[in-house]
Amino acid sequence: MKQLLEIVRSPADHWVGDGFPVRTLFSYQSLGERISPFLLLDYAGPAEFPASDRPHGVGEHPHRGFETVTIVYQGEVEHRDSAGNEGRIGPGDVQWMTAASGILHEEMHSADFARRGGTVEMVQLWVNLPARLKMSPPRYQTILENQIPEVALEEKSGSVRVIAGRFRDAQGPAQIFTPVNLWELRLKAGRRTELRLPEGYTTTLLVLRGEVALNAGETAGQAELALFDREGKAVAVEARQDATVLLLNGEPIDEPLVGYGPFVMNTQEEIRRAHADYRSGRMGRLGSPGAGSH
Ligand code: MN
Repeated sequence: MKQLLEIVRSPADHWVGDGFPVRTLFSYQSLGERISPFLLLDYAGPAEFPASDRPHGVGEHPHRGFETVTIVYQGEVEHRDSAGNEGRIGPGDVQWMTAASGILHEEMHSADFARRGGTVEMVQLWVNLPARLKMSPPRYQTILENQIPEVALEEKSGSVRVIAGRFRDAQGPAQIFTPVNLWELRLKAGRRTELRLPEGYTTTLLVLRGEVALNAGETAGQAELALFDREGKAVAVEARQDATVLLLNGEPIDEPLVGYGPFVMNTQEEIRRAHADYRSGRMGRLGSPGAGSH
């Protein structure tokens, strides 16, 4: 078994723009190579927003050197970027954006959602890119709920949605650069399931609903994150109540990590260059809504 190393409970929250009150469950700033290839996980909400004529969110900002993955549980988010991509995702949908050499984007509540008001709940995960791919062209994938395969677990103990990587015979739709498994587990109360996971890979698990016991020991509840040892080949999860759990598993990228805000590179010089490229417009510009590529 992969030994449970620690459970992160109730970190302080802060706002991203005016649309996402988030708890940062992990960040490369504090955990560094222990969580590689992952860089950051923000859990937004659940939070109520009253009806509004003006959508809340986070306005134009850059990224370089990694990917941002947004999974929506409640609410609806609209994305626009400097590569000309636009997309809207709702509950069950995923947006997988490869910033790579650089992108400007905005992440806003959709106009429809803003007019209605309601609950926002989403996860944003940052996945690192290896040095050789950091300056590759940006890419954008909208992955809708019905494109995500769902595998039933034995004895009606629940199911696994495969967003990225492979679970048994199911391949996740996300196109990825280094080995990553991103699975959403839906587990029935009282049932236990053992997940086989590659030896040597980083493994962490976020509880979104309910409560689970891990490796027949400690329990983790809503918005709590468990971090496992890389050694070992399996993790056991037992649902104390009906539970939804996000499992992240990936091959570590064993390279120096130098980050500043929205840029994560390998050296200080590359960070300086990222700032210069952003300021001079070399990461592109955001056009007006609906205008397409710029
Ligand atoms: Mn962003």
